[in-house]
Amino acid sequence: MKEVFDYIDSSHDSAIELLSKLVRQPSVAATGQGIKECSELVTNLLGEIGANPKVYDLGEGSPVIAGEIKSKKNPKKTILFYNHYDVQPPEPLELWDSPPFSPTIKEGTMYGRGVSDDKGELAGRLKLTEAFLKTWNDVPCNFKFVFEGEEEIGSIHLGKYVKKSPEIFRADGVIWEFGGVDPKERPQVILGVKGILYIELTSKIAKKDAHSSLGAIVENPAWRLVGALSTLKKDDEILIPGWYEDVKRFTKEELEWIRKAPYDAKSVKHELGIKNFIADMGVDEAKKALAGKPTCTICGMNSGYTGVGSKTVLPSEAFAKIDFRLVPDQDPDDLIKKLRKHLVSKGYGDVEIAYSEGEKAKRTSPREPLAIAAKEAAESVYQKPAIVEISSAGTGPMYLFDSPCVAIGGGHAFTNAHAPNENKRLDYLVSGMKWVADTVNRFAIQ
Ligand SMILES: [Zn+2]
Repeated sequence: MKEVFDYIDSSHDSAIELLSKLVRQPSVAATGQGIKECSELVTNLLGEIGANPKVYDLGEGSPVIAGEIKSKKNPKKTILFYNHYDVQPPEPLELWDSPPFSPTIKEGTMYGRGVSDDKGELAGRLKLTEAFLKTWNDVPCNFKFVFEGEEEIGSIHLGKYVKKSPEIFRADGVIWEFGGVDPKERPQVILGVKGILYIELTSKIAKKDAHSSLGAIVENPAWRLVGALSTLKKDDEILIPGWYEDVKRFTKEELEWIRKAPYDAKSVKHELGIKNFIADMGVDEAKKALAGKPTCTICGMNSGYTGVGSKTVLPSEAFAKIDFRLVPDQDPDDLIKKLRKHLVSKGYGDVEIAYSEGEKAKRTSPREPLAIAAKEAAESVYQKPAIVEISSAGTGPMYLFDSPCVAIGGGHAFTNAHAPNENKRLDYLVSGMKWVADTVNRFAIQ
């Protein structure tokens, strides 16, 4: 890998230039700003490295851009790079120290919207591919690229693209869009993501708000909703029958990795200003819960008057937004049926359930050759032990890819992704490329 690493080192400036070019092009999926232009830009960039780009456009939302480079010496194995070219909205603009779409470098760190999530990774993968091609005149196995433009709005159409063009998603392994080092700069190999079921519950009683004196004779939807909600969860346990039925248990090996993974519970509590975790769980339980416990979170509630002072009103409607984080092998379509049945059985059949989004969870076994390659490559590039995270506590569309996935890359713990002053350390841009390149090479020759 020496030639490849030397090329990555010596082409540092052109990697920065490439990343700047991507960041200068806004691509906000939430508003559509610059999506078309950015999809064209990444198509051209794939063309420049000889990846034969194709645009897949369903005519709704952002197009998926895919590319492929065949390996001469190892055409039987394929690795896929999944990234996204869309970014979060830059607002609130007044909190940025430099304009979000004018990449600015200060003390070895670049600032700009998308510089880390996910244009830094996307640029890194293009540049490491170039490094292989310029030094070896080949790639270690077939390379596939899938760049989507709706990751930041829940990858709403990606499933449709998978159904329509399954061939572009097919590979022996997937390098996920994010990854990097933890707060203490130890490389982390992340092997999964949780799923999600996002719903709205609404209780409607009267056809209009009324004087609260009528509370003597008219039922209150806020009380109905609170009653319904209180049947869903107690402490950290979800009370809906069958909710845990399909939950996959951790293997012995996964439990061992969870035990070994560091977790700074003290700083998390300090950061949030809390004394205890839910149900007073200890660090080991907290780590297991983050990696593999289903959750039920009330994200917001609204009913009646919530302004200054008093208003004696009997609301006609109450609603709550709820997210359930899911784990393998829970299925959002099955769970929503269980939720409905549960509410009916508790006497809340009148509470309406509206589905907002659903994604399954996915986990790759730490025994998978790709996971082993990622760990070994991390230790070789960073010269320190790698941490294996069985699953991120967050969600992503990993389940749409059939093959093993690892989340590795050039990220660090303080990138301000999704927030003002998003940044990327340029030393990690380089080491992240080496890590991914080395992982792919190890995977290819296994
Ligand atoms: Zn993001």
